[in-house]
Amino acid sequence: MISRKLFGTNGIRGTVNEELTPEMAVKISSAIGTYFRTRRLLVGHDARTSGQMFADAVISALNAAGCDVFFAGMASTPALQFAVKNHGFDGGVIITASHNPPEYNGIKVIWSDGVEISHDKEIEIEDIYFSGKTQLAKWDKLGMKRELAGVNEEYREAIKKHVKIAKISSKHFHVVIDAANSVGGLASPILLRELGCRVTSINANIDGTFPGRPPEPRPENLKDIAIMVKALGADLGVAFDGDADRSIFIGETGEVYWGDKTFAIIEKSFLTDNPGSKIVTPVSSSTLVKDVADANGGEIIWTKVGSVTVSETMKETGAKLGGEENGGVFYGPHQSVRDGAMTTALILDIMAKTGKKLTELVAEQPQYFIEKGKVKCPEDKKEKLLAKFKSQVKSLKTSTVDGVKIWFDDKSAILVRPSGTEPVFRLYAEAKSQKRALDLVKKYCSTLNKILKVL
Ligand code: MG
Repeated sequence: MISRKLFGTNGIRGTVNEELTPEMAVKISSAIGTYFRTRRLLVGHDARTSGQMFADAVISALNAAGCDVFFAGMASTPALQFAVKNHGFDGGVIITASHNPPEYNGIKVIWSDGVEISHDKEIEIEDIYFSGKTQLAKWDKLGMKRELAGVNEEYREAIKKHVKIAKISSKHFHVVIDAANSVGGLASPILLRELGCRVTSINANIDGTFPGRPPEPRPENLKDIAIMVKALGADLGVAFDGDADRSIFIGETGEVYWGDKTFAIIEKSFLTDNPGSKIVTPVSSSTLVKDVADANGGEIIWTKVGSVTVSETMKETGAKLGGEENGGVFYGPHQSVRDGAMTTALILDIMAKTGKKLTELVAEQPQYFIEKGKVKCPEDKKEKLLAKFKSQVKSLKTSTVDGVKIWFDDKSAILVRPSGTEPVFRLYAEAKSQKRALDLVKKYCSTLNKILKVL
């Protein structure tokens, strides 16, 4: 339920006409418009059934606050973020619920550099919203609405500047794209054709009920594309989330690779071309990302979990590459935000440059086994439990950037983190053997439960 606090990890999200109604979208956008004053803003939406309805509400409120709005219609989040930066808008509003189920929608506010606004700016907008201090423009100072065409075309052209088109074309790659029936189908299939690939698409018809598969690109949702890549003898498969900022890849054997494995491939290639670079990644990423940095002369900057933190850390440190385990890759030379189509072009560029298949590129990397666990913990005890746990493990090699991550000498690691949405602590272990990863999860679940008993 949306209450006191509007913004979550990635903007405002809620179930349509229950938690998030057009009336609320108007009120929220009045606060956003009051915050931006008389600026020029871009608005666009993903393929959800409620996208146009919320766009109308948002644009109306922004115009009423005196903001001129350029409406891009339907596009992926990274295409809209690129357009904000490319056209020099003062900001933007993207109507999307990313990977959430179809009954959800949401509102993301974008700054002039294309990155989602910082937490401080969100608090200012929340203050305007909850204090009711929204401002309406006088009748002769109302904002205008104009259409902005060509967002997807500009975005494709921009991505093409960062890869070697002739080299990719010469390989005649066959790529299967699973667009999740959403905006991932707008730019990527044509982009890949322009890169000389043969493209087969599934779930490419726009349909906001997401009939093909849930919009979260988890391996269990990607069985169709995995079968298809193998059956067609394609070179690569790529599946996007609902707003196409994340991409998950499938090798020619039909194996679905989780995001840190493909990010590590991009990281290695980037460090080869840009030695000594900083790489930004959340503490939830595999040690694999650190191994690749160590072996190729890079420096890892660990951050809290969350794409906005990765983008902001890239800005602060001047880093040009960031990546998340969920398939989000931030390629700074294009834009410092997650971008599914850019990531796909980079993977093809590397396959063309090295002459290697995706499975070969993955097989070259250090291998880790992953185990996960969770411990139930009431919300009011989360803080205490985390503090006690921190003090118990402080003699070990840890990072407390987000939860507690512990690294061990045998290259195993565990992340213990309170969930932001459920009354549980989540544990993610990785090790060179399945048994060691499982033992770590068991050991630290038991440690947490012991502390909880005496809290
Ligand atoms: Mg997304």
